[in-house]
Amino acid sequence: MSEGDFRQRVTEVVGAFAPRRAAAGNAWGQGDDRVSVVAERSAGEAEEIAELRRYRAHLDAHGLSWVEGPQAHGGAGLTTRHAEVLRVVEAEHALPDDAYLRFSASTLCPTLLEHGTEDQKTGLLRRLRTGEVIACQLYSEPGAGSDLAGLSTRAERRDDGWVLNGQKVWSSGAHYSDIGLCIARTDPDKPKHAGLTTFLVDLTAPGVDIRPIRQLTGGASFDEVFLTDVHVPDSARVGAVDGGWGVVMTSLLHERSAIGREVGVDAALVDRLVDLARHTQEPIDARTRDQLADVVVRAWAARLTTDRLLDGGGTPGPELAMTKLLTTDLLRQMSDIAADVLGAGHVADTGEWGTYAWSELTLGLPGLRVGGGTDEILKNAVGERVLQLPKDAR
Ligand SMILES: Cc1cc2nc3c(=O)[nH]c(=O)nc-3n(C[C@H](O)[C@H](O)[C@H](O)COP(=O)(O)OP(=O)(O)OC[C@H]3O[C@@H](n4cnc5c(N)ncnc54)[C@H](O)[C@@H]3O)c2cc1C
Repeated sequence: MSEGDFRQRVTEVVGAFAPRRAAAGNAWGQGDDRVSVVAERSAGEAEEIAELRRYRAHLDAHGLSWVEGPQAHGGAGLTTRHAEVLRVVEAEHALPDDAYLRFSASTLCPTLLEHGTEDQKTGLLRRLRTGEVIACQLYSEPGAGSDLAGLSTRAERRDDGWVLNGQKVWSSGAHYSDIGLCIARTDPDKPKHAGLTTFLVDLTAPGVDIRPIRQLTGGASFDEVFLTDVHVPDSARVGAVDGGWGVVMTSLLHERSAIGREVGVDAALVDRLVDLARHTQEPIDARTRDQLADVVVRAWAARLTTDRLLDGGGTPGPELAMTKLLTTDLLRQMSDIAADVLGAGHVADTGEWGTYAWSELTLGLPGLRVGGGTDEILKNAVGERVLQLPKDAR
């Protein structure tokens, strides 16, 4: 199907669920003023998830819940370019926030497609895309983040499966998730990357204790997850025993490209920033104009770079780390401009529409720069695996 025909079709389907957003130029002062590039929830989460599930079921009924996915597993069998067209159309409509499904849909689905058993694919892929099952990522631990292979959660064999013990941390959305993709050490005698295995852990199982972590922004969108003698059947193992590192690497490549693509810096957000400058400075001073022009140009360049990198389809390569770096760097620049033009209004809520709202971006951005791989780790990945520079001393 041509991209033009596809755009027309998805515009009809998405439009049947939600109205178009008001054009940016006329929107000042109207509607929700949140600058929501980072998922931060403290209230209304259950209602938002219910609405998101309704939307995803609507898409699924029209064969659009997984545009680039294989038809055998409920996908439309189209390309990542078509998926991008859907994303652009979605951004034009007043739809529920899809950040709740980012890990399930954009990371776990392609990872299971590559490493899962047929039963896992049949049982889960479609339900993950519709949001019927929500998943989170149980990788980081208090003593293992960038150096994830140093983790100490243990999984020990029992006759009918495995028993997991350990602590995970910074697990985004664990409190509203049904399952977690967990990496644990299965052979402590092997080199650290070689003795790890991944499992899909049922988060309602006895022995799973989920505790929210309060964030800088006031929300609590991630959690600590304690695992005490949690039984996991062998059918929930993803990939080979002691082969978990490969599964995690696949998922991280997908996660980083999803953050770059889906969080992205869309044209509407750039328009919001320009609008902000218009409403706070009259006329906009030369320095701000210069900075805004730079953001507009770099946002275009970031989008085109991402499009070009995605043209190949398939599993993203290490070069997609650049899409996350470009995104977070641009958002930092936008946050700085907002702080400059707002002055005290950036830190003190005067109640004026569209002003203090930018503080959510500023406070959430450090998290975005760390989650899914810190800037430094991603630069190392680009240096070593894309530019083939000598390896960083470790
Ligand atoms: C918003 C958010 C969401 C998250 N969601 C999840 C989730 O859902 N599931 C999950 O498992 N984890 C999640 N995390 C955790 C995240 O993956 C880790 O925070 C991240 O991997 C960094 O690990 P760390 O916090 O232990 O920092 P460290 O690894 O201790 O790093 C500390 C600092 O040292 C730098 N550093 C470390 N190693 C190197 C190196 N080799 N070269 C150069 N600099 C280096 C880092 O860049 C960083 O600045 C999330 C984190 C955030 C902020």
